[in-house]
Amino acid sequence: MSHTVDNAVSAVRTYIEHHRAAFLDDLAEWLRIPSVSAQPAHATDVRRSADWLAAKLKETGFPTAEVWPTAGAPAVFAEWPSGDAAAPTVLVYGHHDVQPAAREDGWHSDPFEPVVRDNRLYARGAADDKGQVFFHTLGVRAHLAATGRTAPAVNLKLLIEGEEESGSPHFRALAEEHAGRLAADAVIVSDTGMWSEDTPTVCTGMRGLAECEIRLHGPDQDIHSGSFGGAVPNPATAAARLVAALHDDHARVAIPGFYDGVIELTERERDLFAELPFDEHQWLRTAKSYAAHGEAGHTTLERIWARPTAEVNGIGGGYQGPGSKTIIPSSAMVKLSFRLVAGQDPGHVEKAVRAWAAEQVPAGIRCEITFGPATRPCLTPLDHPALQSVARAMGRAFGKPVRFTREGGSGPAADLQEVLGAPVLFLGISVPSDGWHAPDEKVELDLLLKGVETSAHLWGDLAEHWRHAP
Ligand SMILES: [Zn+2]
Repeated sequence: MSHTVDNAVSAVRTYIEHHRAAFLDDLAEWLRIPSVSAQPAHATDVRRSADWLAAKLKETGFPTAEVWPTAGAPAVFAEWPSGDAAAPTVLVYGHHDVQPAAREDGWHSDPFEPVVRDNRLYARGAADDKGQVFFHTLGVRAHLAATGRTAPAVNLKLLIEGEEESGSPHFRALAEEHAGRLAADAVIVSDTGMWSEDTPTVCTGMRGLAECEIRLHGPDQDIHSGSFGGAVPNPATAAARLVAALHDDHARVAIPGFYDGVIELTERERDLFAELPFDEHQWLRTAKSYAAHGEAGHTTLERIWARPTAEVNGIGGGYQGPGSKTIIPSSAMVKLSFRLVAGQDPGHVEKAVRAWAAEQVPAGIRCEITFGPATRPCLTPLDHPALQSVARAMGRAFGKPVRFTREGGSGPAADLQEVLGAPVLFLGISVPSDGWHAPDEKVELDLLLKGVETSAHLWGDLAEHWRHAP
C-alpha cells in the first residue's frame, strides 16, 4: 500500500473510532422502531421509521432528505451533490422496513430492543437492512473528515424503500415517478452479504425471476375411471408429462428458446468462483439435502449463481384423500418458477414457456397459464470501473484482497437498473450466519464498522477512477 493510501486508511479509522459509540446509539434508536411492512398494525411505525431516517440524514449533512409517499409504505430519498461537474452520480439503495419478529419465535432477547452480546448487535433489521443502510451515514462523514472535503467526491443519492420485505409492490412505480431525480451512473445496493467474515466479497449480479401457474382442464367434472378410463385424456397425467419434459437427461431446461441470450460465464469468472473456499458437504447441510444435482458441466456455485433454472414449486390434481377414488380428475395444476440470468428477457421466456406447454398438452386438455410479475436479472461486468472501485474500497477496509460472487436470488434493484439504465453493484458486509428473517438476527459489529470504512473509501475512489468526460 502506498503512503497516501495508508494515511487515508488511518484517518478514516481514527474518525470512526471517535464516532462509533454515537453511531451505534443512533442505529439502536432506529432498530427500536418496529417497521414491519407486512403487518398493517405497524403502518405508523414504518412511517415513523422513514421520518426518523430522513431527519438523521439531514443531521448527517445531506442538504436534501425527503420522505416519498407511495400507494403503500413511504420511501426516503436523500441527495448530497458533490459540487464537482465531472463527478459521477451514485444512488445507494436499501430498505428501512423489516421482517416480522416476536420474542416467542425463539429470540433470546426482544427483537426490537437491540442488545450487544459477544460483539454482535442483535435486533430485527440489524443486518437486513437498517445496519447496512446506516453504515453509509458514518461512512460519508468519515470520507469528508479524512479528505477535508465539505461535500462528497461523488454526487451521492440514497433511496431507502419501505416495502422490500413485502415484495416491493410499489417500488417500480416509485422509481418511474421519480426517475429524473434518481438518475445515476451507478446503483449501489447495500442489502446483500459477503462470503464469510474471513473472505470479503463483492457480489456482481443477481438472478431474475419469472413465475407461472399452469392449470390443465380435462373433463368438465371428475368422471368414472371404469366407464371412461383409457379413452379420454387425463389432466393429471398431462401435468406429470409436462413436468417430466421440463429438463433433459443432463438437467438442462428443455424448453426451446429458454437459453436465448444467456450471457455465459467467462473462464476468468469460473476460475474466480472455483477459488472460493466452498465446501459442498457443508453447503448440502445448509440445503438440508443429500446430494447435489443440476445442469451437467457446471459446478454447484455456477448452478446457483450464473445458470438459469426451471423449478417445480408445486404440482397437484385429483383425489388426495384417504383410500381410493377411481376417477379421472377434471383438472390438475403445476406451479413453476424460472431463475433467469443476464441476457435473458422475462417476456421472451414467457412466450417460450407458453409455446412449449401448448406443444406438450394432448388434444382434449385445455391449458391455462398465468404469469405473475417478473424480475429481471442484473449483472455488472468484472472490469466495470465502479465495480473495481467497490472492490478496492472494501480491500482497504478489510486489508485483504476482495473476491467476487453472485447472488442466486432476485431483488427490486433490477427495477432501478432498468428504469435508470445504470449498472447495479452490491456492497454488503452481512454474513450467512446473520439470520436474515430468522430469530436472533444480528450483525457483527466489526463487520458493520468495516462497512463504514468501505463506504468512506468508496466515494473518493469512484470519483478518481471514473471521471465524466468534460
Ligand atoms: Zn433486505
